[in-house]
Amino acid sequence: MIDYHIHLERGPYSLEWLKQFWDQAEFRGISEIGVTEHAHEFWEFKSVYEHLWEDSACVGMTASWIRRHFQHSVEDYFRLLEEGKKSGIPLKIGLECDYFPQSEAKIRTLLHRYNFDFVLGSVHFLDDWSFDWNPELGWPGRNPDDVYLAYLGLLEKMAQASLFDVLAHLDVIKVFGHRAQENLDRQWKALLQLISEADLVMEVSTAGLRKPVGEIYPHPTLIKEAARLNIPITIASDAHTPFDVGDRWQEAETIAKDAGYTSYCSFTGRKRIDHNLPSL
Ligand SMILES: [Zn+2]
Ligand SMILES: [Zn+2]
Repeated sequence: MIDYHIHLERGPYSLEWLKQFWDQAEFRGISEIGVTEHAHEFWEFKSVYEHLWEDSACVGMTASWIRRHFQHSVEDYFRLLEEGKKSGIPLKIGLECDYFPQSEAKIRTLLHRYNFDFVLGSVHFLDDWSFDWNPELGWPGRNPDDVYLAYLGLLEKMAQASLFDVLAHLDVIKVFGHRAQENLDRQWKALLQLISEADLVMEVSTAGLRKPVGEIYPHPTLIKEAARLNIPITIASDAHTPFDVGDRWQEAETIAKDAGYTSYCSFTGRKRIDHNLPSL
């Protein structure tokens, strides 16, 4: 099994730190890890985010938080991960990139510049609001229906942008347990149809199980619909610490199988490789 969503950002870019992630992966029976630092860790990607502090609409904590990032270089990241590979860690070099419609051209240019094995596309911001950061920031006073519709609108654009390989934590908008009152099944189905037409991969992420919502990303009904549309999947923890690597991958695998999946995929050089899930 694989874990294709891991962040090193809470420690130094050292082989020792990277090995702690692999040790836990191996302990949990994972055979390959995909390291996927946030693009906002790298100064080269700063321009993708600059509207967050340059637009007059964006002020306050989000802007000051994001501006503190961009401390590493992509070259240092590749150097560390290549060193990790040489030391025997089976890893792939990935990236988790935020999707902003206004930054599409910049993202495209940057992703062509580097030889990532795969790139996760994520939505964590609605305009300048980082909705998965703190339930007290931005959520009070908003109508969850409007929030969900805005989020789905961005996901549709991301699916059609042909920038990324895998769409990460597809319904992370539920992170704190806010739910739309309106039935949005039609919108979710339309989104999955777009993902299928764009030949994108969907991540099945156990991170939601560790969040207040306490539910896998995306919801099992969406995984079932994705299986019906033959959308390939990766399995991922979104670990930010060594401890969480490979977290509950068996549970994710069972949910995927129950939804009708018989395979998962990995990536090399942004080419997809399909693997059979072990038979039930
Ligand atoms: Zn994310
Ligand atoms: Zn992540």
